[in-house]
Amino acid sequence: MTIGIIGGGASGMAAALAAAENENVQVVLMERQARVGRKLQATGNGRCNLTNLHALEGGYHGEAPAFSEYALEAFGPEAALSWFRGLGLYTVAEASGRVYPYSDQANSVVDVLRFALEKPNITLKLGFEAEKVKKTSGGFLVQSREEALECDRLIIACGGLAGTKLGGSMSGYKLLRSLGHKCTKLRPTLVQIKTSWGGVAGLKGVRANCHATILHNGEKTAESAGELQFTEYGLSGPVIFEISRDVCQGGGDWVCRLDFLPHIQEDELKTELLGRKATALPASELLTGILHNRLGRVLTQAAGIRSGCAISELADAELEQVARTVKGFEVPLTEPMGMDCAQVTAGGIVTEEFEPQTMESRLVPGLYACGEVLDVDGDCGGYNLQWAWSSGRLAGLHAGRKDT
Ligand SMILES: Cc1cc2nc3c(=O)[nH]c(=O)nc-3n(C[C@H](O)[C@H](O)[C@H](O)COP(=O)(O)OP(=O)(O)OC[C@H]3O[C@@H](n4cnc5c(N)ncnc54)[C@H](O)[C@@H]3O)c2cc1C
Repeated sequence: MTIGIIGGGASGMAAALAAAENENVQVVLMERQARVGRKLQATGNGRCNLTNLHALEGGYHGEAPAFSEYALEAFGPEAALSWFRGLGLYTVAEASGRVYPYSDQANSVVDVLRFALEKPNITLKLGFEAEKVKKTSGGFLVQSREEALECDRLIIACGGLAGTKLGGSMSGYKLLRSLGHKCTKLRPTLVQIKTSWGGVAGLKGVRANCHATILHNGEKTAESAGELQFTEYGLSGPVIFEISRDVCQGGGDWVCRLDFLPHIQEDELKTELLGRKATALPASELLTGILHNRLGRVLTQAAGIRSGCAISELADAELEQVARTVKGFEVPLTEPMGMDCAQVTAGGIVTEEFEPQTMESRLVPGLYACGEVLDVDGDCGGYNLQWAWSSGRLAGLHAGRKDT
């Protein structure tokens, strides 16, 4: 029996290795790029946050979030880590639950998977872009521009549209739609958010720890704490990725309120700033030693402090206004950046059309799907790769075992 797998990314490699555990099946892994795991190599800023120890506690989204539960429970973070250990990968967990390769290199993850794929019953077809799939009487026909491959069972593991420069595309959605499956609306998530605030460009590259709250028409919709990064167009960094899902959907006013000193009370900060009146420093240096210099100057200006005067000349009310600004700076949001900048696609192929226990299509027997192409997306912090391992392994095991 031949199992065809389209997509040599995280979920496709997990599926291939699981299917090949049955030595009686032949696995053909088709990847359109020149090597497998291209996106995986870029994950976690080159460190690959391969799972999260809290992935069984929730953090997954989609029209039917419960769909992911079976796969995650069947092959959760602990199981994934011992599987990787068996492949030769050492890992290390951070206090937050995020797990990275001990080498701190995403390459290590790609390499152990790549080496594991070197099995007699796995054939790698690199540079093979599946353009069409057809259901035949005995199985499936997968066509690239150059050749056609027949297989008895087919797993679509083409990933999502996010990260287009790293291989994200519409391909998987199109192939599954051609076989009768439906797709929800797709949108970028774990993505930077643009702002109309002109001051942001001057802060490009500045990082700050903060507590961020998203407000839609004044109502809180999401919040998170962690590292923020200013970019030329807006806000980025883990704290923003975590709250970027659903931002700027549905019109109205979207604002991100930033508290740059979440561990210090506003009154404590006021007292500190009032104490600085004794210095002869210019007002632009009011926040020196507290925040990044550039950020401090921008916030002082945003609080309406006159440039050119000394701190000693400022009124108490002005210093109090600076403290308020540091503790609750509001940045108007316009839209998320596009799919090319996003880490993950929210939405995908409708999961109701698949069996959660096997990842097999309810519409086309012998057809399976796994990973980001399905309408499942996870929080920032290793959740999406965990979904790729869990769903890929389940699809591979069942495609490889069914009726054999
Ligand atoms: C910059 C970036 C950083 C990220 N960091 C993290 C992180 O640290 N932790 C985390 O959990 N998640 C992270 N993610 C998300 C995570 O990488 C994805 O969710 C995960 O890779 C999805 O796995 P997949 O197998 O579904 O798709 P992919 O890994 O994208 O693999 C799909 C593969 O299919 C191939 N393909 C597509 N169409 C065809 C076709 N027609 N024929 C042949 N081959 C095809 C593609 O070339 C690709 O190699 C990050 C994403 C990005 C973009």
